[in-house]
Amino acid sequence: MTFATLGLIEPLLRALETLGYQTPTPVQAQAIPAVLAGRDLMAAAQTGTGKTAGFALPLLQLLTMEGPKVAANSARALILCPTRELAEQVHASVAEYAQNLPLTTYAVYGGVSINPQMMKLRKGVDILVATPGRLIDLFRQNALKLNQLQTLVLDEADRMLDLGFSEELANIYRMLPKKRQTLLFSATFSDEIRTLAGQMLNDPLSIEVSPRNVAANTVKQWVVPVDKKRKAELFVHLMRKGRWKQVLVFAKTRNGVDALVDKLQGLGINADGIHGDKPQATRQRALDRFKSSDVQILVATDVAARGLDIEDLPLVVNFDLPIVAEDYIHRIGRTGRAGNTGEAISLVCADEVNMLSAIEMLTRQTLTRKMEPDFEPEHRVPDTDASGQVVKKPKKPKASGGGGGKRNLGKWVESGDSAPVEPSIKPVRKVPVFNTGPRKKK
Ligand code: AMP
Repeated sequence: MTFATLGLIEPLLRALETLGYQTPTPVQAQAIPAVLAGRDLMAAAQTGTGKTAGFALPLLQLLTMEGPKVAANSARALILCPTRELAEQVHASVAEYAQNLPLTTYAVYGGVSINPQMMKLRKGVDILVATPGRLIDLFRQNALKLNQLQTLVLDEADRMLDLGFSEELANIYRMLPKKRQTLLFSATFSDEIRTLAGQMLNDPLSIEVSPRNVAANTVKQWVVPVDKKRKAELFVHLMRKGRWKQVLVFAKTRNGVDALVDKLQGLGINADGIHGDKPQATRQRALDRFKSSDVQILVATDVAARGLDIEDLPLVVNFDLPIVAEDYIHRIGRTGRAGNTGEAISLVCADEVNMLSAIEMLTRQTLTRKMEPDFEPEHRVPDTDASGQVVKKPKKPKASGGGGGKRNLGKWVESGDSAPVEPSIKPVRKVPVFNTGPRKKK
C-alpha cells in the first residue's frame, strides 16, 4: 500500500516524499480513507503510531478541496491536545505536512501571553491546534469564533480527561457547530471516554491499532529494587557505569524533579528538568536542548510522558513509578520508537510495590528484576507478578557476609524466578489506579 493508493493529493504526496515516509502505518491506512469519506472516527492509537499524520493528512486534503476561505477570527479545523508540548509538536507536524498547501496553521496554549495569539487569530487560521483552557479563554474574549468549524480532532482524549479537562471539554462542546466531523484519538477507552465519544461523535468508525505491542517489543524493560533514600545515588552509579549519554528520567513530583536536577548539577552532570510549574519558554528550551543533545539528562514529571517525539532516545528511567499504571506505557513509549530499540529502567522501592504490581497487571508481564550490587535494598520489594499478586510479607535480606551474598559481583544479577518476558501489552479493562484524590489540573 502507498499513500497514493489511499487517495491523497499530489502536494501531500510530495510533502511525504520530502519527509521520507514511504508506507502508511496501520493507523494511517485505516484513518485516511475514513476521514476523507467524511466519517467520524474513534481511534485507539497512541503517539508513536503515526496517528498525527493519520488525521492531519486527510484533514488538510479536505480543507484544501472543500469549504470557504477562512473568515477573520475563525478556524476551519481545531485540534485539541492535552499539553502545550504536544500542541507544539502536533502543530509542527501539521505544518510539515501542509508545506505545499495554501493553508494556514497555528498553535495556542496557556503559560504564554495571550495577546500575540489574539493578534494572530485576527485573520483566521485554517487549522488551529490548542490546549483546552487557552482555547476557551480566546473564545470568551471574542478572539475566536467557531461557527466555521468543519472538523474537530480530540488528540489524546484520555490524557485530557486525566488532566482534569472534562469540564473544559464540555464547555467547548457547547461552543461547536452541530454539523461537523469529529475525530477522537485515545490510547485507551475508559467508560468516561466512551461517554465523551457518545456525546461528541456521530456514527463513528472505530479503528484500533496495537501500538503498545510495537512499542513494548522494542523496549527492553527491567526493574532495579532499591531503598528510597538511595535512589539518587543508584541513578548516578548506573549512569556512570552504563556511560549513559541521553536519558529521559521520570520523577513523580515537581519537587522530586527539582531535587534530582539539583543533585545531578551539583555533581557536574549536565541535567535539566521540566514540570508544570516552569514557564512554557523554560520548558521548551530544556526540551529543545535535550533533543539537540546539549542537555544529557532531562528529568520530567508526567507532563512530558506523552506525545514527545525524541529521535533515537535510547533510555528512559523511571526514577519513581507513575501513580497511574497507564502512564508507565506512555513513559516507556518515549524510547524504542520508529523501529529503534530502547531500554526502560525503573528504580523501585518497597513503597512502590503496589504500583509495580499494577503496571505488571496492566502490561501482562512480570518485569525482570536486576539487583545492583551494593544497592540491595534493606526494605525488600515484595515479589509481584502479572496476576496482580503481591507477596505481602517483606523478608529482610540475609546479611551478606562473605561469599554467599550478591554483593560485588561486578555485574547485574537477575533475581532468578522472573525470567525476561517478551511483553505483549494490551490494556485490561479495569486499570488499577493509585490515586489518592482528584488529579490537579495543570
Ligand atoms: P506520531 O505517532 O504521529 O507522533 O508519529 C511518530 C513518528 O513517526 C513521527 O516522528 C512521525 O514523523 C513518524 N511517522 C509517521 N508516519 C510515518 C510513516 N508513514 N513513515 C515513516 N515515519 C512516519
